[in-house]
Parts: sequence; C-alpha cells; structure tokens
Amino acid sequence: MIYNKMMYELGSKRSAIRELFEYGKQRAAVVGAENVYDFSLGNPTVPAPDCVDETIRQLTEELDCIKLHGYTSAQGDVETREAIAEFLNKTHGTHFHKDNFYITMGAAASLSLAFRALTTAPSDEIVAIAPYFPEYKVFVEAAGATFKVVPADTVGFQIDFAALEEMINADTKGVIINSPNNPSGAVYSVATIEKLAALLEKKEKEYGHPIFIICDEPYREIAYDGVEVPFVTKYYNNTLVCYSYSKSLSLPGERIGYILVPDEAYESKALYAAVAGSGRALGYVCAPSMMQKVITRCQGETGDVELYKKNRDLLYDGLTKIGYECFKPQGAFYMFVKALEENADAFCERAKAEDLLIVAATGFGCPGYVRISYCVDADMIERSFGAFERLYQSYQ
Ligand code: PLP
Repeated sequence: MIYNKMMYELGSKRSAIRELFEYGKQRAAVVGAENVYDFSLGNPTVPAPDCVDETIRQLTEELDCIKLHGYTSAQGDVETREAIAEFLNKTHGTHFHKDNFYITMGAAASLSLAFRALTTAPSDEIVAIAPYFPEYKVFVEAAGATFKVVPADTVGFQIDFAALEEMINADTKGVIINSPNNPSGAVYSVATIEKLAALLEKKEKEYGHPIFIICDEPYREIAYDGVEVPFVTKYYNNTLVCYSYSKSLSLPGERIGYILVPDEAYESKALYAAVAGSGRALGYVCAPSMMQKVITRCQGETGDVELYKKNRDLLYDGLTKIGYECFKPQGAFYMFVKALEENADAFCERAKAEDLLIVAATGFGCPGYVRISYCVDADMIERSFGAFERLYQSYQ
C-alpha cells in the first residue's frame, strides 16, 4: 500500500448508518418504499423556513455574479460574522464581535478545525462523553491526537462526573459536549454545565494549562417543552462553539456553520489564528458564498420544530405502549431505546427482518441501546408500529 493507510481505511469503510440507509433503498426496490421503515439518518425532513428561499431569490436579483458567487474572505464575509455576533448578543446577552467567528462548511468542519487548533502531539487527548457522534473519533485522530471516551450515564444521559474526573490528566486538551444530544436526545442542564465548568477549572489549575470545552451545537434550536439549552460560553471561558445551520435551517447539503472563539478564551487571538491556520491547511476557507449571505439574513429563523415534537410524542407514546424502554428526548430528533437483548447489533439485525431500519448505538459508545431517528414522515411512524410490535413479541 503506497497510500496513506489511515485515509485508505476511512475511505474504504462506509459508516454503519450509511450502510443501513443504502440497504433501505435496495429493500424499497424489492418490497415497496411504503413497507420499509427507515429510521437510520438524521436528514431533516421539515422544510427550510421561507426566509431561505426568499433570500436566495432576492440575492440572485440583487447581486452580480462576483458578489454572489465569488470568493469571500477566508474566514467568511464581514457582514455574515457581524450578523451572527449581533444575533447571539441579543439572544444570550453576550458581547461577541465579528472577529470571534470563522465561517465553516458545517459543524463537521468546525470540529475538525477545533481539534487541529487545540492539539499539537499524538499524546494530546480529547475526551468525548458517551453516547457521542461517531465522527468525533475520526476528526480527533485525523488531527493526530488521541480520542478518549467517558462511559454514558444511562439514567439521565447527563455526564458521569466521577468517570470524567478519572479520565482527565495532564494530556487532556479538551472535552467535547453535544447538547441537545445525538443520539440520546438529552439536553445538558444548567447544573451539569456548572459542574463541568467547576471540574475543568479545578483541573486547569492542577495541570497549569487550559482544558477546553468544545461545544458541538447543530441541534441548539431543536429543543422541546421550553427546556433551557445553556449557552456554555457564559459558564466557562475556555469554550469553543461549533455551530451548524444543517438542522436549524434544514440545510445539511449546503454545508454552512461557524466556529466561535470567544475573547475570554486563553490567548484567544492566537487561538483564532490557529483555527484560521487549520482552515487554510485543510482547505476549509471561503465557506459557500451564497449560503453565507442566506444565514446573514436568516439569523433567528428555524424550520418548524413543532413538527419534530409531534413526531417525538407519536413515537415515544407508541413505543412505550408496546413495552419498549425509551429515554424521552428533550431535543434533537433521535429516540434512544434499550435493545431487547444485550447485543444491540443483533437486535438491529432482527429489526431488519421486519424492515425496521434502526441503528445500534455500539458505534456511539453506548452498547445495549439503539437510535431511532424520527426526522421522518409522521405517516411512516404510524405505519411502523406493527413491525415494532412484532419485533417486541419475538422477544417475549
Ligand atoms: N455533530 C453532530 C452531533 C451531528 O449529529 C452532526 C450531523 O448529523 C454533525 C456534528 C455534523 O453536522 P454538519 O452537517 O453541520 O457537518
């Protein structure tokens, strides 16, 4: 093998979720799309808010080709970064300015930039809290650092602080958190964030260097029943926020988001430069120009979150009635359900025989559970209950 072995391996293995999605398409060709219950992907089904289409129409009328489709500044348009700062300041009472933001191709890019900027040696560690988005491991290891996982708190899906404290050491450079969480649907409470901040401040003093919280926030606006999603920069100075419009504006294919480096972060100007340098090294510069202009004019807009909430209620009520043990999601659009046998992969294979496509959480660092993505048509949820019932009965 003359090629980069790590990259070869990443490129030749499709993720388990993608694999399942492709299987679903093949099955639909055989048994009919209406008989396949595909709960595999987190692809938003709620339409983008009107503001998105309206803005695109206006932009094509107002702007010439260079202004609309030309290169932007590497870190993003000034107007875009100003609009984000203004919106966050109005919403959270913060005092950000344009130079705190680097516009990216979504949270995946933001996370990759964060890990590159924060780590310098293979011994540097980034810690994730299970259950976690599996690509974190890919991004951390591709940055040349070491990925560690704190086992899940399977009671409330907050943070097992005893396990986290044990894991932090002199090599720890950052802790990734994701709330609202994919795959559990949990939202970290203010108490959890305060406790995390206190623990990391203590550890920073002990080891004499900053330990960052990397907040992965593509689901920030998708939260139900008025639950508060704490804005972490207000609780902890050494925070990087990795935000995306993929879910809030239902634009995952358009690739747009940002990374926020607050002034309060340790040597923030140097950190921002390292983020920008990581962008340059990876070619993550000049995020899509038209989308930058769309988000400039659509700050504060979201798709209809109520539709996801309706799906949550429908699925939660239906599954618990059958007898499944489900964690009631407070946000995002995933239901975390206990598998009916210890081996969640075997359980998902059995579900497949009913054409129920659900994802084992083994890859999310949480064995024994499955993720059911409910950003799907409500009608499909209704139709799937018979299959869920048969699956349940097959274990009785
Ligand atoms: N982080 C989490 C938790 C996600 O669920 C996803 C996408 O599903 C991402 C990051 C990547 O998002 P983006 O489309 O913005 O790259």
